[in-house]
Amino acid sequence: MVFHFLGVLTVIGKKNSRDLLQRIEEKLVEITEGTTKILVPKKSLDEKVPPKEPAFFNPAAKLTRDFSILAYSAFWEDFDKPKIFLDGLAGLGARSLRVANEIPDVEKVVANDINSDGLNIAQDSMKLNEISNFDTSENEICHFFGSYSKKGKRGSIVDIDPFGSPTKYFDCAIRATMHGGMLSVTATDLQVLHGLSKRSCQRKYHGVPIKTEYSNEIAIRLILGCLEFVAGRLEIQIIPQFVQHDMHYYRAYLKILNKPGQKEQLGYIIHCKSCGSRKTAMKQEEVCEICNSKLEVAGPLWVGQLFEKEFAMKMNEMIPKLVVDKRCEKILEKCVLESEMPPTYYTLDEIASKMQKSPLKMKNMIKKLQDAGFVASPTSLNPNGFRTDCSIDEIIKLLS
Ligand SMILES: [Zn+2]
Repeated sequence: MVFHFLGVLTVIGKKNSRDLLQRIEEKLVEITEGTTKILVPKKSLDEKVPPKEPAFFNPAAKLTRDFSILAYSAFWEDFDKPKIFLDGLAGLGARSLRVANEIPDVEKVVANDINSDGLNIAQDSMKLNEISNFDTSENEICHFFGSYSKKGKRGSIVDIDPFGSPTKYFDCAIRATMHGGMLSVTATDLQVLHGLSKRSCQRKYHGVPIKTEYSNEIAIRLILGCLEFVAGRLEIQIIPQFVQHDMHYYRAYLKILNKPGQKEQLGYIIHCKSCGSRKTAMKQEEVCEICNSKLEVAGPLWVGQLFEKEFAMKMNEMIPKLVVDKRCEKILEKCVLESEMPPTYYTLDEIASKMQKSPLKMKNMIKKLQDAGFVASPTSLNPNGFRTDCSIDEIIKLLS
């Protein structure tokens, strides 16, 4: 990343001189992400936890913004309706600016936030990139989405990227997304989704998590489960296209159709702590059919597919046309492989510890399973994880 100083910041509040003095002491720097110039507070690059003042910017979230550019490019490539991007919680506009600047033929990007300082910075960044398809809006997020909820006014891609849980915005974000459009959602309330307090997860997501080796997949399925719950109420169908997880966040990208979904997609993950068996089911179960132990249950949550194979392939095809992190390609290759695999995964380490042997290499594990007639693939959600339709007792037999 190349930084250079812009000198004294160009954004000066209109409020009062004390405010103004304080702002002048702070400095903005120009960074380049993808091919887009973005003004960000220098402190957000220097400090471990980026400050919320004058506007929040997380440099570590570049990978997620790279994936957004790939996903939106893939989604819009053969899209015949207006390419309109609505960003509900834009901050200083990093994602929105990149959408306006890096994806061809985007008609309009609207970056909304209640923080006018962030929006002023976004407007200065807009000038640096010499783009004209970029607007800002200073409004409460649901009022903003509400003004785009009428048929004919909706966005073709709508994004919510909050601090913490996104669930309180699901209704208004879904309503602001056109038929055949895309909704993308971030969740950063990892402690809630990982089961620190089951009660608070149930309150926010309608489902409960359990602690397992694949807790990140359960978290993503809880987010999608809650979206499905809200969408069902609105007679909307959601079709997940791509999901992604990194240290501090989850992201999900879904297609929105203005018709009720036909298939029941809400169910449970049933996990046995004793033998390690795991599966999805439409009803809760109490006793493990392999070892007779008491089972743990996560959900209700999304039990359908997380990835649309063709969409993941298309995202991969976009890579040479854009400037994105090298990791994207490897991750997307795994998404393609796992797209039609069963839910939940195992890790090489947990199998090794069960067998009291050193872990197999990923490709050897997958080959062993495939040679025995099972389906198997790595997973993008864990470098140590693999998906298979082989049950835990059969995996152990196979490796003994
Ligand atoms: Zn069991």
